[in-house]
Amino acid sequence: MPAVTVDNILTLPRVEAPALTAVDRPVRAVTTAPTGYEGEGFPVHRAFAGVDMAALDPFIHMDQIGEVNYAPGEPKGTAWHPHRGFETVTYMIDGILEHQDSNGGGGSIGGGDTQWMTAGGGVLHIEAPPEHLVMSGGLFHGMQLWVNLPRSSKMVAPRYQDITGSKIALLSSQDGGALIRVIAGEIAGHQGPGSTYTPIALSHTTVAPGASLTLPWNPDFNALVYVMAGRGTVGTERRPVHSGQTVVFGKGDTITIAGADTQDQRSESLEVFILGGKPLREPVAMAGPFVMNTKAEVIEAFEDFQAGRLGSIPASH
Ligand code: MN
Repeated sequence: MPAVTVDNILTLPRVEAPALTAVDRPVRAVTTAPTGYEGEGFPVHRAFAGVDMAALDPFIHMDQIGEVNYAPGEPKGTAWHPHRGFETVTYMIDGILEHQDSNGGGGSIGGGDTQWMTAGGGVLHIEAPPEHLVMSGGLFHGMQLWVNLPRSSKMVAPRYQDITGSKIALLSSQDGGALIRVIAGEIAGHQGPGSTYTPIALSHTTVAPGASLTLPWNPDFNALVYVMAGRGTVGTERRPVHSGQTVVFGKGDTITIAGADTQDQRSESLEVFILGGKPLREPVAMAGPFVMNTKAEVIEAFEDFQAGRLGSIPASH
């Protein structure tokens, strides 16, 4: 898996052992993501399907893109489409996605890069594989997360952050058995590069077979783990989880994740997306690409889109 890595994990800063008084978060629920299709027909796993919205807050939606091995000519993206009221975070491990938006944001991500688009008051964007990968086909694997914006920031100006893999903070577990990539927010005292309106923490973590990680987690944040690949256990109760499953943790100070001794053929290690944030506790009204607080605001977003007020497709396209 071509995510950002290091030759010698033991050279990285290490996560400190939890205090003896620390409470490990209990596992509240484990769900299995159904598959679906997004954009012009690329396969996804709907990571949050069947999870209570209150447990997800401040997150709205998450798709695992692939993992899919395309034949030549098959790779697909999205058409131009609008968003308002939240932020999209796209993390690509295998394959490349090119992004372009009506606010002038854009870039190409792959190999552990992240793009962070704040739709705010409104933006149009397109996400598509580059022509040479459409021609050749190949492996595509990534994640897309929707982070809600608080009422006070829903209409902020759009913003685009290009977070190349080299900017990600890397940490090691105490025994070197887990590599923690901090993409956004603060984890175990280390700050990731992503800047967010809603306080969150986000990591892609690799746990070696047989290794166990106990990670400090902001007690004010919710805590979710999505298994991108491999198998292992979560919690001190060692509940088994596998690729395509989402874990909702209860309250506490730390999260425990362990890699199974024997992994499946597709992955050498347990690969997890760990995320949490400060719940907004505001009403959510969403339809299609808009996430607002009231139904009237969603209708207004559709009207603004139809009137061309969410931006226009750049002439160069
Ligand atoms: Mn989009």
